[in-house]
Amino acid sequence: MRRMDELKRILRRVDKKGYGAYREIKGEYNFGYFVLIVDHVQADPFASPSRMRVRVSLKDTELPEDTYKTRSREVALRDYLTRVFFNNIKRFCKGKRGSGKSGFIGIARPGQEILDRTSVIIKDGYLEVRFVMGLPAHGRTIASSEAEKMFFNELPQIVKNSLFFESLNKKELYEHIETSEDADFLRAKLKSMGLVAFVAEGAILPRSSGIEDTPMRDEKVVPFKVPDTLKVSIVLPNRGEIVGMGIREGVTLIVGGGYHGKSTLLRAIELGIYNHIPGDGREFVITVDDAVKIRAEDGRRVEKVDISPFITNLPFGQQTRAFSTEDASGSTSQAANIIEALEIGTSLIMIDEDTSATNFMIRDHRMQQLLPKFYEPITPFIDKVRLLYKDLGVSTVLVIGGSGEYFDVADTVVCMIEYCPYDFTDKAKKIAERFRAERLSEGGETFGNFRVRIPIRRSFDPSRGRKEVKITAKGLSRIVFGRHEIDLSSIEQLVDPCQTNAIGDAILKAIHYMDEEKTIREVVDTVLNEVEGRGLDVLSPVPSGDYAFFRRHELAAAINRLRTLRVRQKG
Ligand code: ADP
Ligand code: MG
Repeated sequence: MRRMDELKRILRRVDKKGYGAYREIKGEYNFGYFVLIVDHVQADPFASPSRMRVRVSLKDTELPEDTYKTRSREVALRDYLTRVFFNNIKRFCKGKRGSGKSGFIGIARPGQEILDRTSVIIKDGYLEVRFVMGLPAHGRTIASSEAEKMFFNELPQIVKNSLFFESLNKKELYEHIETSEDADFLRAKLKSMGLVAFVAEGAILPRSSGIEDTPMRDEKVVPFKVPDTLKVSIVLPNRGEIVGMGIREGVTLIVGGGYHGKSTLLRAIELGIYNHIPGDGREFVITVDDAVKIRAEDGRRVEKVDISPFITNLPFGQQTRAFSTEDASGSTSQAANIIEALEIGTSLIMIDEDTSATNFMIRDHRMQQLLPKFYEPITPFIDKVRLLYKDLGVSTVLVIGGSGEYFDVADTVVCMIEYCPYDFTDKAKKIAERFRAERLSEGGETFGNFRVRIPIRRSFDPSRGRKEVKITAKGLSRIVFGRHEIDLSSIEQLVDPCQTNAIGDAILKAIHYMDEEKTIREVVDTVLNEVEGRGLDVLSPVPSGDYAFFRRHELAAAINRLRTLRVRQKG
């Protein structure tokens, strides 16, 4: 390891030279209370900024052991330190100083979710932060004095103020850790309480805008009010007793007039698979971790999915035991999305009428009279939702303002009125008795079997041009995979671009495990087991700070949306 003076010497030597001379700084430097590792030096000021790491000994940070002694706490601590580092960059880094990315210091920017991230890791007795730096230049000429300020002035201040217990806001730090720990605890308890989700009294569900995930800060915001009959309480390890609305296993409807807060409630439940930062408003909106949001997604490709539980006898004898299309319709895409979720395994499906195909959700009496079942390939969801629970143990939470037919199949009916939930189960059941549904059930006696799929390895080609592997995440919802693009814009439980980035690289791992025998589920399980056992770092040969935890469901969703995917059905 070189001394920090050595870095200064190199910088002075390369001053005013062509940008390429920066390459010489690659390596490790001892800064006394931290070590700087320059992993990769950008080729020019406009390229992606240079990748670096800072390491401090965990002992030197004086972080108390209780901030990382369990996995849950460690994840929250690392997430918190990423945020502090991010804020201290804003505080101490002057920013743009020269051409291109000159002067930039950056770290993954966390949103409202607390996630396992690789931006800060704890390993072998040290704490490591991964960040990037735009090495400064005027035009393409190295500007060493500016680089010196970044390395010897700004970076040490950022490090000093971010990674040492003494300089951290202890109250905030512990609140972050304890909130996240409580959330994990609650999620782990749901099943034994017979619940699939929990929405705390007083939770703030609406967001500031359609493109902003921070809580609505309006005076008009209505905090969540739990109806007495749905009240459950639980004692959390840090916060103590908490009261909330328990959403039980089975079939739950969220009904109510337009604009009364139905979708907002469902959206919060969808994201209850993640922990949220203190102050978010959804800290104790908690959902089982394998819950999957389902929506219609017309235009998507589908590869040999057995959608026969929902759809049979398509025109001209098209197969639905192995349904493929380059351009799915609303209903076929929604059916495929459900079967694919079941293939991976889920205990809760969530559906919003706003993003559903009407003909997939319901077929009413008059339509049944007009068109006998023989001419309608679709068995609507209403006729399968109970069987889904009975046969497969999969619960459903459904937003449906437009059809009271669903009263017949619901266990619980929650009605939203002016953003307040009411338990209308009895009311709805009485109405269902008084006005008997005339429609006939078309679902049969069982949900129906479906065949699972085995991915064919050679249908994956990550190469592009001369590169054997070219996989790049583009923001939250696009992955460029070789010469193809994967569109994840309908995967609504993806929240952080670092997840997308990790999923892109995880596909490569998945290919590695494909052996023409493992099913899609077995392949993604193998990848996730490796990631959970050895950390997200297994996804990359070089240290990356831009990974965040993702679920097997979202990895499978990406694989399913690769347009070259080919599978063979098992058995
Ligand atoms: P619905 O699905 O019932 O038509 P939405 O959930 O889309 O209604 O909500 C309609 C509007 O009301 C949205 O702009 C949302 O931000 C706002 N909203 C939702 N819940 C609340 C609340 N608890 N307090 C204040 N505004 C809310
Ligand atoms: Mg809505």
